[in-house]
Amino acid sequence: MKYVSTRSRSQAVSFGEAALTGLAPDGGLFIPEEIPQYSPAVIQSLGTMDFRDTAVETIRPYVKDDIPSSVLEDMAASAYPFSAPLISVGDRMMLELFHGPTAAFKDFGARFMARAFSYLRRGEDRPLHILVATSGDTGGAVADGFFNIEGINVTVLYPKGRVTPLQEKQIAGLGGNISAIEVEGSFDDCQALVKAAFSDADLKKRLDLSSANSINVSRLIPQAVYYAASAGIAFAGRTNADGEATPRNESGGITISQDRRFAAAAGKPILFCVPSGNFGNLTAGLYAMKMGAPIRGFVAATNINKTVPDYLEHGIYEERQSKATLSNAMDVGAPSNFERMKTQWSYDELKKMIRGAFVTDDETRSCIDRVYKQFGYYLDPHGAVGWNAVDILSAKNDRSIDGPLAVLGTAHPAKFAETVEPITGEIPMHPALKDVMKREVLSKTIPVNLESLKAELLRYN
Ligand SMILES: *Cc1c(COP(=O)(O)O)cnc(C)c1O
Repeated sequence: MKYVSTRSRSQAVSFGEAALTGLAPDGGLFIPEEIPQYSPAVIQSLGTMDFRDTAVETIRPYVKDDIPSSVLEDMAASAYPFSAPLISVGDRMMLELFHGPTAAFKDFGARFMARAFSYLRRGEDRPLHILVATSGDTGGAVADGFFNIEGINVTVLYPKGRVTPLQEKQIAGLGGNISAIEVEGSFDDCQALVKAAFSDADLKKRLDLSSANSINVSRLIPQAVYYAASAGIAFAGRTNADGEATPRNESGGITISQDRRFAAAAGKPILFCVPSGNFGNLTAGLYAMKMGAPIRGFVAATNINKTVPDYLEHGIYEERQSKATLSNAMDVGAPSNFERMKTQWSYDELKKMIRGAFVTDDETRSCIDRVYKQFGYYLDPHGAVGWNAVDILSAKNDRSIDGPLAVLGTAHPAKFAETVEPITGEIPMHPALKDVMKREVLSKTIPVNLESLKAELLRYN
């Protein structure tokens, strides 16, 4: 499998090169030259395969020239000791993507990316140095994904006083090969510093620098796995509660039996509602659908940063400044992965596969309240945007939502306790987050200044 830029198909590169360079030389994003197909035998068994096996079957065609099958199997086993439970809440399903160590779906991409980078860099005598700026969530998933991974050092830059205490511990509480730098400035300042470091000739000579942001193909492809796995499970009429904790208050009472719900889905392709910001998650869903997983379409759910729902409605794509909302991991006015969607499919094709809807903060809060009161289920603000987007389509009598439907739970509600708990009361804590809160913050503080950042980075040299 070769990769080409979204801006020109002339220079095809390997998976390894696309992953390690991140962005194509012409400024475009790397996309696979074509989308591979699952074999009929794999499609048949998606509903019964172990999650790790689905990961191998899904990722292998994209990486097979660079990563042998046996290595990929080890990577999947060590990256995914958790999976993605599909459970029923009322007459819908929730695909819970927050059972990884940082309690958000970004763990699926970051943990595979870390292992892929380490393998692709084997035999190099210098370590690879990953530099990443974060406004909160990405930094934690990248830090955790790369923690203790051989041959790689990571430095995360985050804006002082602008991440939550939990996020700060996820970013700066690991130590070892993960360094955290608190910048006396904004997220934009952090990003500008990272950019300046990448174009500094002296640094380039002395360190092998790379990035790990969400446009990297090695983060995108593994996100197709949970779509295929859960679509297969629903199609088979099964449940996969997996014994993992779900944030549910038993006394709230689940009104519809799990078994009845899942039996009703058997033999029918599923619709996924995807709470979206940069649209990496939804792009990965489209890959799973095109590979042949039993998926009938998607709902692109956003907060008031509704660039893509507006595009789907009017056919005009207009990037905007982002606005702050309760679902802050989706506060994106110029979604970077949309360039992939726009290059790989026409407007008409996208419209056939995706419905759009946007949700305000007031609707988000009342949705958390309603779903908790009705089902005893705790939604986080991002999941609530997804749930409410389906309600909006339902109120418009949009028939595309008829049939099996799963809303993606992209973060555990305890990660956004300051929004959720005033509405629902105390949330049962995610076991991984409990441990994170015990960590000590180990970060260096620097002013917004390239020389200060260089001094920190060159300490590794
Ligand atoms: C990153 C993130 C999103 C948005 O995902 P995209 O791939 O950027 O669309 C949604 N919810 C949570 C909790 C996130 O961390």
